[in-house]
Amino acid sequence: MDDHRIVLIGGGHSHVLVLRAFAERPEPRVRLTLVSDRLEAPYSGMLPGHIAGLYTRAAMHIDLQGLAARCAADIVPQAAVGIDRTGRRVVLADGSLVPYDTLSLNIGITPDRSSVRGADRYALALKPIGSLLAKLDEAFGGAGAPTGPGRILVVGGGPAGVEIALALRARLTRGARQPWIGIATGRGLVPRLNHRARSKLAMILARKNIEVLSPCRIDEVHPDGARDHDGRWIAADLTIMATAARGQPWLAGTDLPLSADGSVMVRSTLACTGDDAVFAAGDCAELMGEPLEKAGVYAVRQGPVLAQNLRRRSRGEPPIAYRPQGRALSILSTGDGRAVAAWGDGFAVEGRWVWWWKDWIDQRFVGGFSVR
Ligand SMILES: Cc1cc2nc3c(=O)[nH]c(=O)nc-3n(C[C@H](O)[C@H](O)[C@H](O)COP(=O)(O)OP(=O)(O)OC[C@H]3O[C@@H](n4cnc5c(N)ncnc54)[C@H](O)[C@@H]3O)c2cc1C
Repeated sequence: MDDHRIVLIGGGHSHVLVLRAFAERPEPRVRLTLVSDRLEAPYSGMLPGHIAGLYTRAAMHIDLQGLAARCAADIVPQAAVGIDRTGRRVVLADGSLVPYDTLSLNIGITPDRSSVRGADRYALALKPIGSLLAKLDEAFGGAGAPTGPGRILVVGGGPAGVEIALALRARLTRGARQPWIGIATGRGLVPRLNHRARSKLAMILARKNIEVLSPCRIDEVHPDGARDHDGRWIAADLTIMATAARGQPWLAGTDLPLSADGSVMVRSTLACTGDDAVFAAGDCAELMGEPLEKAGVYAVRQGPVLAQNLRRRSRGEPPIAYRPQGRALSILSTGDGRAVAAWGDGFAVEGRWVWWWKDWIDQRFVGGFSVR
């Protein structure tokens, strides 16, 4: 009998767990292939810490090549740009094809800058993380002194926008010039977190001289600033978009059922609603009837279920269900070796020990993939 070909697209949080699961317990008669546009996967939970200077670049990356080698997976260092579902083949950027029996997508999301004029040309986006880091290095003249922008505007008041603003403040306090940093938000600060966490973060931002502009819905970005919905001009020589994101545009050409934001619709088994041979997990997937927040914690929890279901499909066994946790813990780094944790409707704590806690969780996750 031929080997069952499982092809994983993207080295996201769920897929690194799948690869590790197959390394720890190899599955007979399965051939694994990882298609990834990068050989190292950035771990976004550590991105603000890296920008703040608390982690090296290597510390926040998972070595996909090493991980693939541990489970004898082939690695194809290219971006997927399409799926020929009839012929069961993945289409790669160079036009070549990778055949599969079972396919799994864990490719994250891409910033949606379409509703803000000029954002594509003049603003930096948080993802892909590799190009964000390269552009930040360029803007600040390498990892060292802040020779760069005097006014930095972060658009978006969600956890990522707040963490990036605080991380930039921490990175730039080491230089002589203190840039103005502002957060423009149409819906207030971290609206999904509870009121205690919100007020702690508002106090920290004020203490660190980060101005919160709210309500302030940015409509246009220019090389020297941005204009909001009410016509207000905010001068900025660096604008960073930390707003909505959506599924990758090429997914629309696959004819897989997609949600309004372009994510692949999946059942509780993480199999696509329109095709049992295709699975999706993490930010690029939307659970039917139970849309989850786009957060790495869900991608991580889905990893072991996805690994089991890929195995089970290769053996012809029925899949198991993923049951999302009711509420997730959020920990936001404040860039200065402290952090704020929020849980549920009213729990929030802040301090150095909260950072140690986050650091322990993140380092344990990334460390779990290093070659031992
Ligand atoms: C600044 C910031 C801080 C955050 N902090 C946290 C946090 O503390 N906790 C938390 O839970 N969440 C956090 N998040 C959210 C978190 O980043 C995402 O929810 C998480 O990364 C989603 O994981 P994923 O596995 O779905 O995809 P990703 O981590 O985005 O991985 C997708 C991978 O697929 C690859 N890829 C993409 N397209 C293709 C293609 N076409 N072909 C091949 N490969 C491809 C990419 O290179 C990437 O490696 C943060 C986000 C940001 C921006």
